[in-house]
Amino acid sequence: MSSYTESEERQALRREVAKLAGKYGREWFTERARSGEKTTELWLEIGRHGYLGINIPEEYGGGGGGIGDIAAVCEELAAQGCPLLLMVVSPAICGTIIARYGTDEQKRRWLPGIADGTGTMAFAITEPDAGTNTHNISTTARREGEAWVVNGRKIYISGVDESDNVLVVARTEDARTGKVKPVLFVVPTDAAGLEYRPIAMEIVSPEQQFQVFLDDVRLPVDALVGDEDGGLVQLFAGLNPERIMAASFSTGLARFALEKAAAYATERTVFHGPIGAHQAIAHPLAQSKIEIELARLMTQKAAALYDAGDDMGAGEAANMAKYAAAEAACDAADRAVQTHGGNGITQEYGMAGLLVATRAGRIAPVSREMILNFVAMHSLGLPKSY
Ligand SMILES: Cc1cc2nc3c(=O)[nH]c(=O)nc-3n(C[C@H](O)[C@H](O)[C@H](O)COP(=O)(O)OP(=O)(O)OC[C@H]3O[C@@H](n4cnc5c(N)ncnc54)[C@H](O)[C@@H]3O)c2cc1C
Repeated sequence: MSSYTESEERQALRREVAKLAGKYGREWFTERARSGEKTTELWLEIGRHGYLGINIPEEYGGGGGGIGDIAAVCEELAAQGCPLLLMVVSPAICGTIIARYGTDEQKRRWLPGIADGTGTMAFAITEPDAGTNTHNISTTARREGEAWVVNGRKIYISGVDESDNVLVVARTEDARTGKVKPVLFVVPTDAAGLEYRPIAMEIVSPEQQFQVFLDDVRLPVDALVGDEDGGLVQLFAGLNPERIMAASFSTGLARFALEKAAAYATERTVFHGPIGAHQAIAHPLAQSKIEIELARLMTQKAAALYDAGDDMGAGEAANMAKYAAAEAACDAADRAVQTHGGNGITQEYGMAGLLVATRAGRIAPVSREMILNFVAMHSLGLPKSY
């Protein structure tokens, strides 16, 4: 291995995951989405093989690997047309935060289910009024004797219907007017007072987004993950993994779109020779190949820095990777549609659906504008604009 290639082990992992996901494939995925069914078999199969929990510590049922490993799994699934958003959320965000800040008892209770897929955990920070400004969240937690009582409303929360628990970001009530002190609670999705409603999205995916209502939800004191005064540090532990995973989700989808486009451009002939012989078709696809590889390289750099314990270095790289990957994926999907001509808009070829799926990567989990803000401020030393 040179320092610019992944280890043999990582490459083998990619091949194995691609083979497994290939058994399911894009048609199966979109069929599930259109019929309102879920991807539970695939989820549990990657769990059984140890891929879903590959980043979770071994003593809690995981593979003991890093974010680079789980990101590779996420990318290969997406590259086979089976992008699983819940991988970003359950093992990468929730798994990382609990592994880093949970008590031994909490790790024993939640990590094995996250690792094998039988105890999926959603993540809820976004609120209708606060939006990107997460410092402004108003979901509050109030201590009442031996219980916490949580009230608030969340939006765009992925996979609540497929999760046993949701890791909810709230603020303690006494901190409401002061500096934000985010606190994290594991809330069972069947808790009294918790309700969720699906949001009709244009994304063709079996995974749905929900509004979540928390109305006097009473939780035991040990539902609190981390220190009540731990503040942002605990929350930030999940952010770099989130961005690295989101980047991998995007590069995987981009690879899928590009592979389909290249295959179509090789076969389809309307004048003399395949359409791929026209530079107007070939060059945009070649451009995408370059952009995707650049984004993958930055994603792998971010993961390597994170796994080496360099949180600061990983922060910059993870933001850049997420930005570059989302841009590469949007362009690849657009070019794939164009390459397919009219077929690009049909359900049969399934290309147009990728436009929305890749587009979401420019918005979530952190928007391209907020990444540009981060780079302007932290990498270039420019004044904070908000
Ligand atoms: C498919 C999908 C899945 C999601 N899953 C989850 C989930 O599981 N859990 C969860 O908690 N959230 C989830 N989200 C929410 C997601 O993280 C938010 O949509 C995202 O953070 C943006 O917030 P917003 O939608 O409220 O946009 P807004 O905050 O209203 O922003 C609107 C626009 O204004 C721009 N903007 C805002 N402030 C600034 C600024 N200071 N400078 C420049 N531009 C600015 C934004 O970049 C954006 O383009 C999901 C969203 C989607 C689309």
